[in-house]
Amino acid sequence: MSDTTASGALRGVSVIVAGAGLAGLSAAYDLKAMGAEVTILDARDRVGGRVWTIREGFAEGQHAEAGGDTIDGAQDEIRALAARLGLKLSRILRGGWGYARPDASGRVRIVGRQAARGWDRLSEHLSGLARRYRMADQRWDSPITADLARRSVAQWLDEQQADKELRATATGLRGFFLADPDELSLIALVDQFAVSDPPVWGEMYRIEGGNDRLTLALAERLGDRLRLNTELVAVSHRGRGVRASVKQARALSQIDGDYLVLALPATLLRRVPITPALPAQQHEAIARLKYGRATKTLLQFSRRFWRVQGRPRAFGTPLPLGALWEGNEEQRGRAGILALHAGGSASDGTQAIVTKDGVQGLIAALDWLGSRGAALMASRQVVWESDPWARGGYAYFDPSFDPALRQWLARPFGRLFFAGEHTSVRWQGYMNGAVESGRRAAAEIEAGHHLKT
Ligand SMILES: Cc1cc2nc3c(=O)[nH]c(=O)nc-3n(C[C@H](O)[C@H](O)[C@H](O)COP(=O)(O)OP(=O)(O)OC[C@H]3O[C@@H](n4cnc5c(N)ncnc54)[C@H](O)[C@@H]3O)c2cc1C
Repeated sequence: MSDTTASGALRGVSVIVAGAGLAGLSAAYDLKAMGAEVTILDARDRVGGRVWTIREGFAEGQHAEAGGDTIDGAQDEIRALAARLGLKLSRILRGGWGYARPDASGRVRIVGRQAARGWDRLSEHLSGLARRYRMADQRWDSPITADLARRSVAQWLDEQQADKELRATATGLRGFFLADPDELSLIALVDQFAVSDPPVWGEMYRIEGGNDRLTLALAERLGDRLRLNTELVAVSHRGRGVRASVKQARALSQIDGDYLVLALPATLLRRVPITPALPAQQHEAIARLKYGRATKTLLQFSRRFWRVQGRPRAFGTPLPLGALWEGNEEQRGRAGILALHAGGSASDGTQAIVTKDGVQGLIAALDWLGSRGAALMASRQVVWESDPWARGGYAYFDPSFDPALRQWLARPFGRLFFAGEHTSVRWQGYMNGAVESGRRAAAEIEAGHHLKT
């Protein structure tokens, strides 16, 4: 991260930032460096939003991530930000991904590197569409994109007369997109394969000591500019300033500023009345964006029974418990935490298992990994679609979303600026996208202000 933000160009300018997730915190951090007087607020009693490191309840001082977990080697914004704040990254899951699925008799078996082969096959099948999409420079306002976007992945699989394997691979991607093939627009899949190798095959990292070290470090630098338990309930941006109406312990009050950064998920942003209203397309983009179901279960066992020489420590599965990996590989101790990440219908499946048989039901479903006889020490489960301040894991594009609307998610309107994972083009759905979007919003305010003066 360069120091160009420390410009002082916004001295005397007040900026309100709504949302203290990675996007809002990154925006506030840059705005402060630009000299702005920043007020950042969040409805929760903690910062970080969908970055949430859980420590409480786990033995041996261990922790694991209930939200954003792995950082890819190519994700420069978050890596640079962590470095700038003096935080180290630990390389994790070097053994890559394995795949486990039921055989003909229904017994779950680990089938080696099948996942990579599945991705290769999917990539081959998509290559023609990916080429067309690249011809459109991957623009979401092209008719090529519109034509791809109105079909679901399930429809495309039918058109391809896809075999069972290919369908299973596409379904397995619910852990990645948080949506099943019938929910997901084909453009989301083509977009992923048109760019490069799927990111899950690259190097993976997490922040030493927990990903919340990053959000807490940013919050610490913002000091008393941060207001927690403060909900944005309305925005008015008439005339020369912006007024944010906020609710704190049922009391309503107003905060005035020169600019406002809206760094809330679209699921919450669309509930906030904005006067004068946003342009129709922008309103529609925010109103229509879907968010995926995601349940993360963290299971701490007295020993790391899943560690077997030469075998990966991360697995994709078509099972209702979703994908799973060692959630604290970089931490010492005999005990260890397994992270179960269930996206789309697997989120429903995981919850159904827990409703029926409790967490023991999940452990029984991990028999193939060697869970029999393992002693559970602690468990935590977070259902993101039930979280009142997220209302979903992260955004995904469904076939009813007009791709030409996408650009409106990030477009400034008057004194209002937009940030958040969902506004990022290259890194939508990632922590890196959140950081990048917050920095972009701060730079937009600086540039816009510069143009005015
Ligand atoms: C289960 C799960 C797994 C994930 N895994 C990964 C991963 O491995 N790698 C990766 O890079 N990313 C991952 N992500 C995605 C990543 O966590 C998010 O993209 C990122 O944290 C989003 O940051 P944000 O700032 O855009 O939004 P948020 O973190 O949601 O921040 C928005 C903030 O706005 C607040 N808010 C909402 N409404 C209001 C209101 N009315 N007034 C005031 N405040 C409000 C919320 O409380 C929240 O703190 C995962 C996400 C989930 C849920």
